[in-house]
Amino acid sequence: MNEKAKNALQSLIDGNKNFVNGITTTKNRTVETLKSLQNGQSPAACVLTCSDSRVVPEIIFDKGIGDLFVVRGAGAVIGPNILESVEYAVAKLKVPLVIVMSHDDCGVMKAAKNTYPAEPEKFGLLIKSVYEIIDHETECYNELARDYTLVKKRKLLKRSEILRKAYAAGELEIIRAYFKFDTGEVVFLD
Ligand SMILES: [Zn+2]
Repeated sequence: MNEKAKNALQSLIDGNKNFVNGITTTKNRTVETLKSLQNGQSPAACVLTCSDSRVVPEIIFDKGIGDLFVVRGAGAVIGPNILESVEYAVAKLKVPLVIVMSHDDCGVMKAAKNTYPAEPEKFGLLIKSVYEIIDHETECYNELARDYTLVKKRKLLKRSEILRKAYAAGELEIIRAYFKFDTGEVVFLD
């Protein structure tokens, strides 16, 4: 892993420890911070995660304004807009680290588990994207959410030449993670 990605990852690990221990240290959440960044941003990492209201990257990683480029959508299902947003972070903002994070009690995973293998009546794009890794053996939707991060990582690389090239050149790391609601801990899976 390159030095920039390593530092970014360590900073996320440390920030999450702060969150778990109830000692948040981030000060850069003021208008002053924003003013200092009004002509540009250089976030240390991109976090691709779910829109779930309980999953708030800046809070759970103890980060502030300008620290994270966050890409969110329900289930963090990788469609064209999501993919291009991650590409933007890597190609334009030179972010060295992408975190692909899923979480406990995800509504999309739950819906997929409950609907499978029927044709979903609504939210078809989201639900059917999870179908590709689901089977009758899959025990619970939290396990599904965890497994799904690997599919997402592969999809990012398969569908994006920008990400593939950066990854191959060692300029980009993609790390999978899972956010637990009972402890607030982010478990890194790679
Ligand atoms: Zn979710």
